[in-house]
Amino acid sequence: MLDNRQILEKIELKRNIWDVVDYVNNVFKMALDRNASDIHIEPTEKFLLIRYRQDGDFFMIDKLDKENVSPIITRLKVLSKVKIDENKKPQDWKIVYFYDRDQKNIDIRVSTLPTSYGEKMVLRLLRPDESLTSLDKLGFIDLNMGKIKKALSSSYWIILIAWPTWSWKSTTLFWILKNFNPLDFNISTLEDPIEYNIDFVNQSQVKPEIWFTFATWLRSLVRQDPDIIMVWEIRDKETATLAVEAALTWHLVLSTIHTNTATATVQRLINMGVEPFLLSSAMRMVISQRLIKRVCQNCKKPKDVAPHVLKTVREYLYPIMDKQEVDNLIFYEWAWCDVCNWSWYKWRMWVHEVLIVEPYLEEMILNRSTANEMTDIARKHWMLTIIQDALIKSAMWQTTIEESLQLI
Ligand SMILES: [Zn+2]
Repeated sequence: MLDNRQILEKIELKRNIWDVVDYVNNVFKMALDRNASDIHIEPTEKFLLIRYRQDGDFFMIDKLDKENVSPIITRLKVLSKVKIDENKKPQDWKIVYFYDRDQKNIDIRVSTLPTSYGEKMVLRLLRPDESLTSLDKLGFIDLNMGKIKKALSSSYWIILIAWPTWSWKSTTLFWILKNFNPLDFNISTLEDPIEYNIDFVNQSQVKPEIWFTFATWLRSLVRQDPDIIMVWEIRDKETATLAVEAALTWHLVLSTIHTNTATATVQRLINMGVEPFLLSSAMRMVISQRLIKRVCQNCKKPKDVAPHVLKTVREYLYPIMDKQEVDNLIFYEWAWCDVCNWSWYKWRMWVHEVLIVEPYLEEMILNRSTANEMTDIARKHWMLTIIQDALIKSAMWQTTIEESLQLI
């Protein structure tokens, strides 16, 4: 298989675009057809490069003569109705594109950044149905879904952790929010940036340049009679402490944090300076999520698994499944077909780790147990680790063993 550098070399350099309006439309359309998540338009030394991010990986799309930079950028700016002559400062705008195939408007968030070769643009495609999605699309297994529903029925603090950044944490956050009727509650969010507008939800955008940060927002929010508060991200002690206080005063607080596992989140917050005795009573649930590749349903075929790999798989599955059932499992892999084409996998899926703060864990938080100690005990209390969740999904032929085991 060719790597991206070799593919790029094979792509012919286009001198002139016939019609910039058509060209830009086509770039949007093709990205949506292929389920890409982002379009990168980047001026390089010799040409303008167009790449898609799809299933987390980059795909080389086009190589244009640099003469085309300015018409394309102007076209994008016209579409989003922003100032055409501003190119020295980073900007964020939005384009609404009518997608013929699905007969609906798609929001495209555009972010520009000046670089040494010109303005680099990243366009994030925001699909309404996938962003505010239904439960099964999120792919929680029943055991985890039950835990989440129960946790959502109480006040307290709920944290979502997502890694890496393109794992679309906003999708899960908004799904959680959608469980609540905004007319029955006062819901406030502070986002960075606002990606989806939701009716009757008070959404604000972070503006560090005027000191409108998570901490200042949280402090003024207390006087806004809120029920549900969504803080985009916990980055510092002040925000963490205010979020804990809000949860302790009977608000449902939703937030995200940048760590790798559910139990590491607990440790991270304590390291940030949150008091363990406050944390243990404020925190209710931590959901950790990762995106992995989904096996192509069109060409999947049974896989012979090497004995040493099978041994590892069984070590993860024996504690949570019937031993005989585990021994009889069949796993699948992709073949290669027109549907999955050269991206190998058709789409992607989430795997999760859901940690519920029960009395045993409250005690461990108070005793400042390490993340590993917490994971060990949590597994005994039926927390599935992210690898176990992935392996269960491999057993259901949704993903492969390789994809699952690379999470270790
Ligand atoms: Zn296929």
